Amino acid sequence: PPSTIAVIGGGITGLSSAFHLSRRFPQASIILLEKSSRDGGWIRSRRVEVKDSHGNKAEILLEAGPRSLRPNSKAILELTNLLHLTSSIITTPKSSKAAKDRFLHIPGRPGLTRLPSSPLSLLSTPYASSILVPSILREPIRRANRPKDADDESVSSLLARRFGHKLERIFGSALVHGIYAADARALSVKATFPILLEAEERGRGSIVLGMLKAGSKESDLQQYDVGDVQSLVNDAAVFSFVDGLGTIPKSLREYLDKSEKVTVRTNAVVTSLRPKLNAEGIEVDLANGETLSASHVVSAIPLDRLEDLLPSHGALPHLTTNPMSSVTVVNIVFPPSKTPIHPPGFGYLIPRPVGGYSRRGTGFLGTVFDSCSLGAQDTGAPGFTKLTVMLGGPYEITPAHTKIENVLAQLQHHLSPIHHRIGGARLPWPVYFEAMEHNECIPLPLVGHVRRMEELRAALKTGPWKGKLEVIGASVDGVSVGDCVEAARKVGRDW
Ligand code: FAD
Repeated sequence: PPSTIAVIGGGITGLSSAFHLSRRFPQASIILLEKSSRDGGWIRSRRVEVKDSHGNKAEILLEAGPRSLRPNSKAILELTNLLHLTSSIITTPKSSKAAKDRFLHIPGRPGLTRLPSSPLSLLSTPYASSILVPSILREPIRRANRPKDADDESVSSLLARRFGHKLERIFGSALVHGIYAADARALSVKATFPILLEAEERGRGSIVLGMLKAGSKESDLQQYDVGDVQSLVNDAAVFSFVDGLGTIPKSLREYLDKSEKVTVRTNAVVTSLRPKLNAEGIEVDLANGETLSASHVVSAIPLDRLEDLLPSHGALPHLTTNPMSSVTVVNIVFPPSKTPIHPPGFGYLIPRPVGGYSRRGTGFLGTVFDSCSLGAQDTGAPGFTKLTVMLGGPYEITPAHTKIENVLAQLQHHLSPIHHRIGGARLPWPVYFEAMEHNECIPLPLVGHVRRMEELRAALKTGPWKGKLEVIGASVDGVSVGDCVEAARKVGRDW
């Protein structure tokens, strides 16, 4: 068993790795090294003070990074249970408008286009249904057309092959904007939506038939200690916490600080990792000149950052293949107003423009109506509307794109029908506006990612690292917070 474990990176992956490792190896000394002055990585929740027109103050919870979790990640339910966070969970019920009413803003069409959420709602969503229904009905009778010998392809390629180009561009590209802030034509479908490939396999070439055939439920070999969290989120589309997702890193940090065998160090920049040549273990060099000796190391930093730390005799394959997406996140709070700012719902996404990502575009990827789904975070601030605009990804963003006037003009354009209906009212001036540029924040698994990661794991086992270095995190096993915690839960299984 390991005697000293160094975990590099204090994002959700590194923190939850230290948590699970400290439970699995209670005798081991664990040191977590985080480069910046705070832990949590991209999870950044904060409360800001706002005032209404009467000068009444209120505090609103805002997220600069991720904002919601999907209950299908058992690892995140387990972590919530083990950290005793049950009482601060807030959910968005599947039956609520915030879960069901999702929109697109399709350039060239006015306002928002509602997406169907059930067969019944097809009638009330004529535009979206006019594309979706024929494509879906036709799909099972299209001949099987998966390219021979290709075990992966782009998300776009699969959707266009099975459902046609229009569905791919309007719905597929928008979905990928919402999750990865990326161009669906580059992303690996095997790494991002494996469920589509599996359905195609099951349906002997047809995704629709494959989806209709109940897939044999994977036997859950690992037991997850989810306690009563499962029953709380059974009817939830997504969930978070009263004080936002920052609740998880904060509680992890409290837990780790109480553990005698764990040390968490911030402002600790790892500059190189060296496998010891004539002995077991790994040397970890820090920017302040210190060298730590560890029997085992977990890298929970982006792959291209790991590349910079490795000596030539410890080089690893595929660390710099994938690019990272940069996103500008804009948190906006509107004051209480008689006119609703937006229709009730989850928010809207904007598909890839017909001519591709031109430099002159608005740069908008979509907008989340946070007050609708996460309003329970702000019970002390009734009437305020918070929303989050995401810009960037495949678009090149200039400072002009994120100026308050320009963002509001775009929002007004997307939300205009609701304002026209009530006499051409304009959006009120926000009481809070903050645009944050997140440089290289979402790793983008390109086609072939899954195979490349298998090769990386094989190289870690056999080469000079002898299985003592494990490499996990958003750029390896999936970008959602749930994926990160799932990987952290498995780390060190073979030690
Ligand atoms: P990071 O958070 O990047 O953490 C890595 C850490 O390593 C950083 O703290 C960094 O400072 C540190 N580090 C780097 N180099 C070194 C070094 N040399 N030495 C020491 N430390 C180092 N997921 C969801 O599930 N739901 C969402 O709603 C959602 N929305 C998102 C919205 C945005 C805007 C973004 C950016 C992401 C979103 N995600 C969402 C994805 C998810 O938040 C991230 O994939 C996840 O938080 C990544 O965690 P991580 O620990 O792997 O990496």
